[in-house]
Amino acid sequence: MAEDLNPFKIAQQQLDEAAEVMNLDKQAHAILREPMRTLVINIPVRMDSGETKVFTGFRVQYNDARGPVKGGIRFHPQESLDTVKALAAWMTWKTSLANIPYGGAKGGIICDTKSMSEREIEALSRGYIRAIGTFIGPQVDIPAPDVYTTPQIMAWMMDEYSNIVRHNAFGTITGKPLEVWGSEGRNDSTAMGGMYVMREAAKGLGIDLRNAKIAVQGFGNAGMFAYTLSKKLFGSKVVAISDSKGAVYDANGLDLAKLEKAKKESGSVQGYEGGTEMTNEQLLESDVDILIPAAIENQITGSNADKIKAKLVLELANGPVTPDADAILHEKGVLDLPDFLVNSGGVIGSYFEWVQNIGGYYWSADEVYQKLDKIITKSFADTMAVKKEYEAKGSKITPRTAAYIIAIGRVASAMKVRGWY
Ligand code: NAD
Repeated sequence: MAEDLNPFKIAQQQLDEAAEVMNLDKQAHAILREPMRTLVINIPVRMDSGETKVFTGFRVQYNDARGPVKGGIRFHPQESLDTVKALAAWMTWKTSLANIPYGGAKGGIICDTKSMSEREIEALSRGYIRAIGTFIGPQVDIPAPDVYTTPQIMAWMMDEYSNIVRHNAFGTITGKPLEVWGSEGRNDSTAMGGMYVMREAAKGLGIDLRNAKIAVQGFGNAGMFAYTLSKKLFGSKVVAISDSKGAVYDANGLDLAKLEKAKKESGSVQGYEGGTEMTNEQLLESDVDILIPAAIENQITGSNADKIKAKLVLELANGPVTPDADAILHEKGVLDLPDFLVNSGGVIGSYFEWVQNIGGYYWSADEVYQKLDKIITKSFADTMAVKKEYEAKGSKITPRTAAYIIAIGRVASAMKVRGWY
C-alpha cells in the first residue's frame, strides 16, 4: 500500500506510536491528537493591478498547557490546513522538548510571493494580522518567520499588531529585524542549534567533523547557515547542496562565493562553476557522512530510505523523514535525529528574543549562542538518555520516539496538574 504522506496523519501516527510505548493516559492522548483551535481566514488584498484578490490563510494553536503558543508563518503556494496542523503539533513537542515555557502553533498563507510585489506582500502580511489579531499577543500566541517569510515581514506584522492594540507590542512577533528589537543571533539560531546537536551526535558516533563530508538539501535560512556554520565551526566539507531547482556536487567542498554567484546569475545553486549537477534525489543518496535535509517535508520516504548512505541524518527541515523511512533508517543503523530536536534552535532563539522584548534588556550574540548551546545540548542528552533507558528495558526505540516520550510527557503532566483530565 502506498505510504500516506498527509503531514497531519503522520504527526498523529508519531504521537500514537509514542503514546503506546509510554503508556500515555487515554484522555491526555485524545486531547493531544487534535489542535486546541484552528483558524481559517480569507484575506482580501488590493493588487497592483487595482483588482482585489482573496488569499486563504491559517493559524493553528495546538496546545497551550505549558504557556503561550508559538510558531512560524509560512507563505507557500501549496500550503494546506493539514500541513499547518502538523507543524503546530510539532511546535508543541519542540517547545516542550526544549523545556521553554510555550505551547505550539503554526500559520500559513496560500500564496506565491515570487510573483508578488513588495507592496502586495506587505498588504497581505498586514491583512493576515488583522484577521488573527484577536487571537494573538505576547501572552497568547507569538508568531515568527518560516518558509518564504522574512524579518521584514515580521516587522510589518508587529507594526500592524501594535496599531491594533495602540502600543508597541514588540514581544508579539519574533524573528524581527534588529532595528525593532529582534535578537542578536536569531538569524542563524536554527542552524546554530543544529550544529550543536551535530557536534554532540558526532562525538557519540565517532565522526571526526574536521574530515566529515556533508550534504545539505536547501539553500534558504536553515540550509545556507548549516552550510556556512559547519565549515566555520568545525572545518567540515559540504560537498553537495541544493535548492528547489536541483543540486550541485563538488568532492573538494563547495565554495560560498561561487554558490552565491551561481544563485545570483542563474537563480539556482546548479549554476555553480566547476561542480557536478545533481537532482535533489541524488543529493539525498550521495556518499556522505552526514545528511542535512533543510528544505521541505517528505524527502526521505519508504522508497529511498534504504539508499541513504549517511551515518547521521540531521533533520533541520520540518518533517523531512516519513514514518516508514524512519523505521528503515533505524533498522540500517543510521542515527536519524528528529526535526523537533535538531531545528529547535529557531524557537529557542525566538524565545530569547521574546524574553529580551519583555524584559527590555538585550544580550550579545555570544550570550545568545551560549544559552542556546546549553538548552539544546541538554535536549539531545535527555533524548539519548531516554532512548538508552527504554533499550535497557528491552524496547528498541528511535531517537524520535524518545524525544516524543519526553515532550508528550511534559505536556500531559501540565494538563494533568491544570485539571484538564
Ligand atoms: P527558506 O524559504 O529560507 O528556504 C527553503 C529552501 O528550500 C530554499 O533554498 C528552496 O529553494 C528550497 N526548496 C524548496 N522546495 C524544494 C524542493 N522541492 N526540493 C529541494 N529544495 C527545495 O526556508 P527555511 O527557513 O530555510 O526553512 C527550511 C526548513 O527548515 C522548513 O522545513 C522549515 O519549516 C524548517 N525550519 C526553519 C526554521 C528557521 O528559523 N528558518 C526554524 C525551524 C525549522
